[in-house]
Amino acid sequence: MGRLVIVSNRAPSVDGTGDSGGLVVALKDALSEQGGLWIGGAPEQTDTPSASLVFHQRPDFDIALFEMEPELYRDYYLGYSNSVLWPALHGRVDLIDVQPHYSIAYREVARRLARQIADIVTHDDVIWVHDYQLIPLAHELKALGLTSRIGFFLHIPLPDLQTFKAIPDWQDLAGWLADYDLLGLQTQRDLGHLINIFRHTLRGELRANGNMGINGREVVLGCFPISIDVQGFRRLAVEGAAQTAPAPMPRLIGVDRLDYSKGLPHRLLGYEAFLSQNTRFCSNVGLLQIAPPTRDDVDAYKAIRSELEHLAGRINGSFGTIDWTPVQYIHRSLPRDELAVLYRYSQVGLVTPLFDGMNLVAKEYVAAQDEADPGVLILSQFAGAAEEMSDALIVNPHNPQDIADAIRTALEMPLAERRQRHDALYGHLEKHDVGHWSAAFLNRLLSVEQADPEWLARVSGLESRARTG
Ligand code: UDP
Repeated sequence: MGRLVIVSNRAPSVDGTGDSGGLVVALKDALSEQGGLWIGGAPEQTDTPSASLVFHQRPDFDIALFEMEPELYRDYYLGYSNSVLWPALHGRVDLIDVQPHYSIAYREVARRLARQIADIVTHDDVIWVHDYQLIPLAHELKALGLTSRIGFFLHIPLPDLQTFKAIPDWQDLAGWLADYDLLGLQTQRDLGHLINIFRHTLRGELRANGNMGINGREVVLGCFPISIDVQGFRRLAVEGAAQTAPAPMPRLIGVDRLDYSKGLPHRLLGYEAFLSQNTRFCSNVGLLQIAPPTRDDVDAYKAIRSELEHLAGRINGSFGTIDWTPVQYIHRSLPRDELAVLYRYSQVGLVTPLFDGMNLVAKEYVAAQDEADPGVLILSQFAGAAEEMSDALIVNPHNPQDIADAIRTALEMPLAERRQRHDALYGHLEKHDVGHWSAAFLNRLLSVEQADPEWLARVSGLESRARTG
């Protein structure tokens, strides 16, 4: 194989700052082994974008930045990606903001980026595209005759067919997805949705090997649950805790970007019900909610902030005393090493999204615990993580009583049960860390047969007729 080429909406920093955690850690080894390249949007927009990728060298891998004008970036990123695709793929079709110029910008970014990528990749390079901002990329690259293998991983959830069809461009999106050689999703739930979408939209046929026949070729499908650097995160928690005092009273912790998909108001309603039904815990437990701002420029995000702040104020006003604040709410981002210690010193981790591709906070909370006296994870049935983490207390976030009951159960859980649940959760995580995730995806991508140029030419001619809807 040639190089490994990663493509994502944002590239890692050129100087390596901010590498800790997440995708960069996951892919760093593979990139340095293969002589890799990471292509992504430049951190700043410009009125005079370069017509070709702008290269930077790091010791571990090269970075190539894709430049955009501010208006194009706004319509592609805040517009189509985060005001159409994000809400729709999270099942919030009521929040979709349909604007024709958003769709145009989304396609234009993929088209431009494809031209710049096609100039620098070869047949032997293997391309791994990340996430919903870049779905049309394989389609555009193949239209330019590129025969490299191209895989795609969707980090966020894929909803059922009916929800998917609420997106005005749903047929195009399905077709663009089918242009990849390998499609990776977080969960079996989402894989089932994808198969249904392909069957319905493109007359896809499920084969015995789990892949789909679409328009005379096989699209390889797989479920690859993303994870964290489990050992590294555990180390952060152990080392940090050695220098920090534990919290003065039992604590529940929530850590979520302030996003409507995270179910923050639902969580507070559950906590409020818990306090009103279990008054002996008043003054003896606290909720620490860290909710950093995100996409403040999109209206739906302003609404969720005021709803959360209203509820936190109501709970503090109703239950709080001079010496006790029931909800501590922090509206800014904390560094990972601080989070690791806060998780370790919290008796309950509250992860209750309404819909989430995976949810890494759930995995971080488990990795950070002291195995001799671990805390309890309360996890929404709608987080992708719930498929692997059935030893958590699984709740329906739409039912405040379910959350209230789980909080009481968690706080009263005997040590033996806490240890048994934590052992099971941690044991699974240890074997399925982020290195396992990236290796599984890349091995599958490398096993895919490469496209034949004649086939590509034929399919490009057929595709408009094949997408029947
Ligand atoms: N995070 C952080 N500081 C914060 C809040 C969150 O570093 O103040 C990190 C958190 O540790 C986790 C990530 O952001 O690694 C959130 O990932 P998750 O999958 O839970 O949700 P997403 O934000 O990707 O939807």
